[in-house]
Amino acid sequence: MTTLAGIVSCLDGYDPEALHVEVARAAIAACLEPVVEEERVPVAAALGRVLARDLVSAVNVPAHDNSAMDGWAVRAADLAADGETALVEAGVALAGRPFAGEVKPGECVRVMTGAVMPRGADTVVIQEVVRRERGKILVPPGQKAGQNVRRAGEDLRAGAPALTAGTRIGAAELGLAASVGVPEVLVRRRLRVAFLSTGDELTGVGEPLPEGGVYDSNRYTLRGMLAPLGVELDDLGVVRDDPQALAQALSRAAERADAIISTGGVSVGEADFVRALMARLGEVLFWKIAMRPGRPMAFGRIAAGRRPFFFGLPGNPVAVMVTFHQFVRGALLRLAGCASDGAPPLLEAEAATAIRKLPGRTEYQRGIVFRDGGRLKVRTTGTQGSGVLRSMVEANCYIVLEHERGAVQAGEPVRVQLLAAFS
Ligand code: AMP
Ligand code: MG
Repeated sequence: MTTLAGIVSCLDGYDPEALHVEVARAAIAACLEPVVEEERVPVAAALGRVLARDLVSAVNVPAHDNSAMDGWAVRAADLAADGETALVEAGVALAGRPFAGEVKPGECVRVMTGAVMPRGADTVVIQEVVRRERGKILVPPGQKAGQNVRRAGEDLRAGAPALTAGTRIGAAELGLAASVGVPEVLVRRRLRVAFLSTGDELTGVGEPLPEGGVYDSNRYTLRGMLAPLGVELDDLGVVRDDPQALAQALSRAAERADAIISTGGVSVGEADFVRALMARLGEVLFWKIAMRPGRPMAFGRIAAGRRPFFFGLPGNPVAVMVTFHQFVRGALLRLAGCASDGAPPLLEAEAATAIRKLPGRTEYQRGIVFRDGGRLKVRTTGTQGSGVLRSMVEANCYIVLEHERGAVQAGEPVRVQLLAAFS
């Protein structure tokens, strides 16, 4: 069987002791095997699911040429180029109530938005420019043939894919599926993700905090980041820094989960027992990623059960969010069958102040992007400690400072990634 180590060692620049973020992303991507099982669900239940097959439209959308405006449907050939044209109103067409006859030369039909274009007419004149006089409709010159008409199939052609396999179904996709009249869609089965916190110091919310105790916040952050991905969640709770307990938790989770996420236990001192454990249960790679925050990370696969992928994130609360957003989220979307890893775009903003940065690692600083005189600017939230979760609450973006980059002067362009785009 191909080992993960075998797969990733072939990648350019693969150095587990100082892994470039792009290489880490490529390494994970090279190992993933998406779920393949499919199921049929009603459109209304398809939100957040991943389309398993192309959704081909059986109909044109819109189904008929129709009016884009309220006004009168006319024959362009009737209209005088240099003066008003007087037309006789032959009837009315409303959305869902077509005009039964045909528009003959010298005639027009009152139309409302969405009304099927009456036979014979090819152009809509908006009501605001039309005058009525002695029972006639007077159309001013300067109308363009074909104006204000939505063509059949303009949105979607019959026979063409309305949505392609691998699309993550959001609000627009849901509406588009409904707009072609499809009652059910074929989607990949939901990904099952188990998650846990490790650490002897961790205390559950609602319990008194012993000396040296820390409330376990990472499981809540993880739940919040996982929920919008539409995956099935399995909260395994807190596991003590004890190989036996962790082995049990992982083995049990492997029976059901496609992916397991842990936090903590991957720093230099702690990694050893996870390493020994995973050597028994499957395979794990330990990486020191050239990034801040989030340097240590483990990636592996358990050999038993569903053979879930394992993401061992650092324990620091900010590092958990950054590593999840930058590596795990995209990997889970791919595992779920998405054609894209859904990475939010990098936008450009101007640094409002100087930003400290050393070359040789990618930094994800917490920033606040704002508009200033028509320009997008960004400042940091101040303290950037990887334990300061408040910085994530205050931030609305990551300031992504590239690997090679050094200190940033005020006024320089930097890249930002909006946090809202990670939902
Ligand atoms: P570790 O990576 O396990 O050495 O943890 C690094 C830091 O993150 C330590 O200060 C831990 O107390 C803290 N930490 C680890 N896990 C959690 C958690 N689940 N919730 C809050 N803080 C944590
Ligand atoms: Mg720990």
